[in-house]
Amino acid sequence: MKPLLVVSEKDKPVWTRWARFDHNQIFSISKNVSPGNAIRKNKFLLNLFGNKLGVYLDSSRFKTLSRRQNCYACGLQGTHLFLETNHSANKENSSIFYGACAFNFYAIVDGRLVLMTEDHVAPQSLEKSKKSEFLEKFFEINKECDIDRNYETCTMCIFCNAAKRNNCVDISEIKKKSKEEREKRLKDSAHEWITNTSESAEFVDFWSVFCEKLPNIDKKTEKMMRRKELLSI
Ligand SMILES: [Zn+2]
Repeated sequence: MKPLLVVSEKDKPVWTRWARFDHNQIFSISKNVSPGNAIRKNKFLLNLFGNKLGVYLDSSRFKTLSRRQNCYACGLQGTHLFLETNHSANKENSSIFYGACAFNFYAIVDGRLVLMTEDHVAPQSLEKSKKSEFLEKFFEINKECDIDRNYETCTMCIFCNAAKRNNCVDISEIKKKSKEEREKRLKDSAHEWITNTSESAEFVDFWSVFCEKLPNIDKKTEKMMRRKELLSI
């Protein structure tokens, strides 16, 4: 077996889609790992086709996606969960175990992948007092909105998230902008990791590729270990 998709530019990999997983399985594991906080503790080491890949399941993004799988604005339903590496993000995200990667969750629209993201219902950039003002207005305008008010974040597709930005409170406006943008962007989309949907890929069972839970080593210790060449990767 090999990865579902490897996109290379000038002989260097830029995107690897390792495998498809059953989102119900992965989200239920995520629900059972400790809540995300400043120190993320639940990095799992997976072995896919001989590649050792470390992945978090308790990021805020992932917790949000595990609570809800459709966009709270346009209703788009996420269906496909892939383990992927965006190699350009590698340097920043990589930790002591190589192969920084993440589970990315997508909906499929017109044969294209649409990323499902985490939205802060009240924009993060707002001060606390402004946040409550925003939320009050938001729920007043969007009376039908069914998001869980116990949480600050909710699942949103990438197009609604972009349309909402930091100021749009009206869901019907978000939906309208998002639809226009989606139709335009998806048609023009050239990236293979968007156009190649791996739609019918079979699930890989999480536990069949699971190796171990990784120890949590902070960045400072990691740097020191690298300097002393205690880490070879
Ligand atoms: Zn949406």
